[in-house]
Amino acid sequence: MIDMEFNIAQVADMLGLQRTPQKCSGQSFYVKCPICDKTGYHLNINVAKGTWRCAKCGESGGTIGLYVRFGLGEAEYTKQAGHKAVMEIQRQLGLKTDFTPKETEKECEDNSTRLTDSELHAVYSCMLKIPALKLSAEHIANLKDRGMDEDSIKRNGYRTLPERLLLPKGRRSELDKFKNMNYQALCEEQSELARLRKRDVFSGVYIGTYLHNYMKVNLDNVPGFFKVGGLWCFKYTAGMLIPVRNRKGEIVNFQIRTDKGRVRYITNSSSGFEAGTTGQCRVHFPIINPKICEDTVIRLTEGALKADIAASFNTNPNIAYMAILGVNATTAINDTLTELKESGCKTITNAFDMDKITNPHVAKAAQKIREIVQNNGYNYSCLFWGGVAAKKLVHEQEKVMRDNGISPCSKASNVFYNVLYNTLKMYKNGIDYPEWSDKNTKGIDDYLNFKRRSA
Ligand SMILES: [Zn+2]
Repeated sequence: MIDMEFNIAQVADMLGLQRTPQKCSGQSFYVKCPICDKTGYHLNINVAKGTWRCAKCGESGGTIGLYVRFGLGEAEYTKQAGHKAVMEIQRQLGLKTDFTPKETEKECEDNSTRLTDSELHAVYSCMLKIPALKLSAEHIANLKDRGMDEDSIKRNGYRTLPERLLLPKGRRSELDKFKNMNYQALCEEQSELARLRKRDVFSGVYIGTYLHNYMKVNLDNVPGFFKVGGLWCFKYTAGMLIPVRNRKGEIVNFQIRTDKGRVRYITNSSSGFEAGTTGQCRVHFPIINPKICEDTVIRLTEGALKADIAASFNTNPNIAYMAILGVNATTAINDTLTELKESGCKTITNAFDMDKITNPHVAKAAQKIREIVQNNGYNYSCLFWGGVAAKKLVHEQEKVMRDNGISPCSKASNVFYNVLYNTLKMYKNGIDYPEWSDKNTKGIDDYLNFKRRSA
C-alpha cells in the first residue's frame, strides 16, 4: 500500500535506535523505545509491514511516522511533518526526492481544478485517442488473466504508457524544439523536474504538445499537465493508464499502475509543477455498472481497476461497484454518498480486500468508511469470502498467540470476525500478525475470477 524506496529498518538505524543484542528475524526486531526504555527493548519494528509499536507505552505508527516521532520529535503525524520526514530520510540515504506522501500514505488532497467533469472528460478522452498510446499485448494478457474479456478491456479505455514511448516521425516539430533546449537549464529553472526521468519528460511533452498543438485541446487547469520550457507536458509514469470515471461514465482522472518493481497505483496529478494542477481524488464507477436505483446494493472496493474487473463478472442488475482510490482516500466518498441519495440506493457494502481482517491499519480505514456510510444515512454491511483460508488463518493466529502467552479470541459470531479480533489483539500486544496469504481470495476480483475458473 505504501510505496517507498526505503524501509523501516533503515529509518530505525538512521535514528540510532538501539537493537536488542539477541539475534532476531529480518522481518521483525526490537529496539529501545526512546520514550520509556532505560533497560529493556520494547519497541517492535516490523520490516515486512513497515510498522512499529512499543509494547510498554503503546506508541505506534508507520515508517514515516517513526521518523516524525523520533527524528523530528513531533508528537502528531501531519502531512507537513510527513513530507519533511520523507525529504530528510531520502537526503540521508542519498535517494532522489521523488516521493510525495499525499499520493500514498495520506489521502490525496482535494481538488484545485476549476474544470467541470465534462470538461475534464473532453480532455482525457482526447488523450486516449493519441495514436501512439495503445494497450500493450502484456497488459491485455494481464487483464485477461485477471478474468476480463476483450469487450470490457476495450470499453474501459486502458492505455499503456511504455518505458520508452515510440515517437512517430512527423508532427513532432514541437518535440524537436524541446530536444534542442538545454535540459539542465530547464531543471534548474524548475527543480521539481529532478523528480522525473528525462525520458518520461520527453514522452510527456510529446503527449502534451500533441493534444495542445495538434488536437487543439486547452490544457489549462487539467490535472496531470504542466509546463516545461513553455510547452505542455503530461506527468508521465510508465505503466497502465486506468480511467477513473464518475457515475455518468465521464473520465474525471486517471490512475497509473506501475509495471516495474512492486506494483503501485499512482493518482494522476501535476501539483507542484509549473502551471500544474492537483489531481482529484474521486470515487470511481465502472462504466459497465447497471443503473443505480433504490434496489441497488453498491459494493465498495479500493482501486479503479479492481472495481472494473469485479464489475465485469457481475450479472446481477441489483449489484453495482464503486471504488475509492486508496483505503485512506475517504474524503471523496462523503461527497459521492451525498450525490448518490437521489438514486434511492440504500445499501453500501464493504468489499475491500480480505486484509481488512488481517491488517489493523486497513481494519481502521474500513471502520472509518463504516462511520461515513452510516452518517450519510445508508445501511452498511461488510462482505467476506474465503472461509477456508480464514479457518486456516485462525489456527495460525492461535498458535502465534499461544506462543506469545496471549489467549486467542473465541466468542466471535463467525470465523472472519474471529480473525479480525485476533488481529487487533495481536496488534495491541505488539505481536507479528499473520497476513492474508491466499492469493485466490485476497480481493473480490480475485475471488470472483477464481470461482468462475473452478466452476
Ligand atoms: Zn515506549
